Amino acid sequence: MTRKVLKFGGTSVANIERIEHVADVVAHRARNEGGGFAVVVSAMAGETNKLVGWTKEAAGDGLVGAEYDDEYDVVVSSGEQVTSGLLALALRKRGLRARSWLGWQLALRTDEAHGKARIKGFEGEGFAEAVDGGEIAVIAGFQGVDDNGRIATLGRGGSDTSAVAAAAALGASECAIYTDVDGVYTTDPRIVPKAQRMEKISYEEMLELASLGAKVLQTRCVELGMNNNVPIRVLSSFADPGDTHAGTLVCNEDEIVEKQVVSGIAYSRDEAKFTLLGLDDHPGVAAEIFARLADAGVNVDMIVQADARREGRQNMVFTAPDRDAELARRTLEDARSEIGFEELEVNRDVAKVSVVGVGMRSHTGVAKAMFQALSAKGINIAVIATSEIKISVLIDAAYTELAVRALHTAYGLDAE
Ligand code: ASP
Ligand code: MG
Repeated sequence: MTRKVLKFGGTSVANIERIEHVADVVAHRARNEGGGFAVVVSAMAGETNKLVGWTKEAAGDGLVGAEYDDEYDVVVSSGEQVTSGLLALALRKRGLRARSWLGWQLALRTDEAHGKARIKGFEGEGFAEAVDGGEIAVIAGFQGVDDNGRIATLGRGGSDTSAVAAAAALGASECAIYTDVDGVYTTDPRIVPKAQRMEKISYEEMLELASLGAKVLQTRCVELGMNNNVPIRVLSSFADPGDTHAGTLVCNEDEIVEKQVVSGIAYSRDEAKFTLLGLDDHPGVAAEIFARLADAGVNVDMIVQADARREGRQNMVFTAPDRDAELARRTLEDARSEIGFEELEVNRDVAKVSVVGVGMRSHTGVAKAMFQALSAKGINIAVIATSEIKISVLIDAAYTELAVRALHTAYGLDAE
């Protein structure tokens, strides 16, 4: 029996009218395609933010960590409980059999990292049977249950991850993610009007794009899809209900016949650059720096270390999210004598622009094209980082849009 998982995001279930539309889409597919259906829903748009705000107000500044996180989960998970029940009702109204499934009923097991829990497994007793029996399972996304029986949420945007986990557990043929955009684009269409929707993109490329700043899918959801071989289709909830081949399919690289050298361009403005000058040069210095940053919860990204041309001294440059800039600066300043450095410079007006493509593995000249396109626009590069399928540069934030546009053209991605 083929099973399918459909997921609808917050804007798609923003009010009763939108939920009615979702019910029409699901009903259309259930009647025309056959097979079993599970539908995962997010909370109504804006709802989770409102709930988060309430927990902050109730807790005040004093409660942090374990004293806060478990009850935070109880509150913020409630948005999805509401939409799962509402959609089940709207489906019943259309003559379909449907019921809601909450995280603990599924049981979607998570670890105890409240607020950002990871999925451990899916017990789902009776769940697959219900789906096969023709009852539409409407799953409250974003939530699971830990081993103590307490509700845990999967981190913001986690409903995508719930959907892929459900698809993996059901052995579904596809996980359709209905959202407010109609697919994955070669870059942000708000910056580059000539950006194109991709028909297909590999898991690996999508993973890079998501972690480099593209906001369509949560990184963990793509990771889960890749590890479990679940094809993920991103499509618009405004699309024609029958148009199931629209959007972008995130799948295995082998299924993509025409591989692009560069498939997409991502950017992130949430970057800050740290320069440590006159840093001690002996074993353990880097370990000291990054252990302190890690303990403070700062996620470090690009790292470059260079000789300072002075005996026993070196320089180091690294980047971290701009929102952590002050925390990182304080952490390093507080440990100045233990680490041993002369100066720390922090530049918060930087952005990271990245080009991603599996074709890079087999083509030369990709870096050359990038650096030439940037230099032709007079854009200076502060830091460069590469992996097998991506090249990232750190530049002055003022040039972000110019850089993205220039690269989009340089790699032949502009629509006709
Ligand atoms: N409602 C949650 C959030 O806003 C989860 C989700 O929508 O994916 O983060
Ligand atoms: Mg910044």
